[in-house]
Amino acid sequence: MDFDLPEELKILKDTVRRFVDKELIPLEREYRPEGEEMPEHILKPLQEKAKAVGLWMLDVPQEYGGAELDLLTRCVISEELFRTVAVPFRNNEVFGPEVRAVLFHCNEEQKERFLYPVLRGEKKVCFAQTEPDAGSDPAGMRTRAIRDGDHYLLNGTKRFITGAGRADYAQVMAVTDAEKRARGGITCLIVDMKSPGVILDRQWPTMMGDAPWQIVFENVKVPAANVIGKEGEGFSLAQKWLQEGRIRGHGARCLGIAGRALDMMMDYSQYRVTFGRPLADRQAVQFMVADSAMELHAARLMVYECAWRHDQGEDVRNLAYMVKIMCTEMAGRVVDRSIQVHGGVGLTKDLPLEWWYRQVRSIRITEGATEVLRWRLAQNLIKAHKPQ
Ligand SMILES: Cc1cc2nc3c(=O)[nH]c(=O)nc-3n(C[C@H](O)[C@H](O)[C@H](O)COP(=O)(O)OP(=O)(O)OC[C@H]3O[C@@H](n4cnc5c(N)ncnc54)[C@H](O)[C@@H]3O)c2cc1C
Repeated sequence: MDFDLPEELKILKDTVRRFVDKELIPLEREYRPEGEEMPEHILKPLQEKAKAVGLWMLDVPQEYGGAELDLLTRCVISEELFRTVAVPFRNNEVFGPEVRAVLFHCNEEQKERFLYPVLRGEKKVCFAQTEPDAGSDPAGMRTRAIRDGDHYLLNGTKRFITGAGRADYAQVMAVTDAEKRARGGITCLIVDMKSPGVILDRQWPTMMGDAPWQIVFENVKVPAANVIGKEGEGFSLAQKWLQEGRIRGHGARCLGIAGRALDMMMDYSQYRVTFGRPLADRQAVQFMVADSAMELHAARLMVYECAWRHDQGEDVRNLAYMVKIMCTEMAGRVVDRSIQVHGGVGLTKDLPLEWWYRQVRSIRITEGATEVLRWRLAQNLIKAHKPQ
């Protein structure tokens, strides 16, 4: 068993660290992406620099011009990237356009209409699954798509949809067979946001500064040719995508956030003197450093192992649940301790800590609330357990 990262991955990690230190961390003072997007005049030059050092379209298959990196490599990159708060929390496009993985399941004709324009950065797609009465339990969704000749009639309401206001298309999950639902009754349809009957009803501003949308679909005609994959395949396609999000989007991101929060805690504790001695001399502060380092280390091993097993083709469903729970909770504790050590300064907007605090609080709910994942994990473990 080898716990060291491969040599080429260490080199790549260094490249990303240098990029973040040189290009992104200096931006933090002048720009904090509280909204969903980086302004074009900041994003475009950064994208050109990222391309120049080979950090471009990392998860896109090579046949579409991407780097097709494995998940472990992308986790290592994400860990480095999310040491900075200069990148948006959602829709981070510094290393290439945001491509929803489900789009790689487009057929040849659909690729021309949806995938390639997204890859060229010309079109944007949002993902619409959650509903007012179906968040943690998407199988309970009410949005219906009823086949009528060469199209579907779509009716329903989706809530908390990130980026819907600027999206050209929505990737909508809808019930096509009410009997089967999660077992083959939910279908993924690409809906043109300009279609008659698509209503951007309202926004929901959140504590992270973003404002996802509520969308109402009223008798929207969606061509049958806009079904991604097969009818009834939508639920399993979305779950696969969400699983990768738990490992890289949540797990690896939290490693980066916690890693820098810990570095800041150690820097400040050596510099700040109270009652004649640096904070770093106090056992109460030392314990916060030790606990944070220990928890971060355990979480990192878990993320790397899970990503590695995923790349070997293993079923990592349970490990991915563990990663999301462990990393989001760990990052919450480490950021909280770092704020505590920084005292009043830690609460100010001069430092990234308060923003991380709000972010890591939110991701214990989105894309699988902690309690739901614990529940699913326990169900799977108990089902697989053979009584002794
Ligand atoms: C900022 C933001 C952006 C989002 N972006 C998107 C997006 O782009 N697309 C999209 O489709 N969705 C999006 N969502 C929706 C998000 O994924 C849901 O909010 C999340 O899945 C939780 O659903 P809910 O809010 O309906 O909570 P509910 O399902 O009502 O659950 C509420 C709470 O109940 C508890 N709970 C629920 N079930 C159980 C259980 N079985 N056992 C124990 N406890 C349980 C949990 O603590 C949970 O937090 C976004 C949400 C936010 C806030």
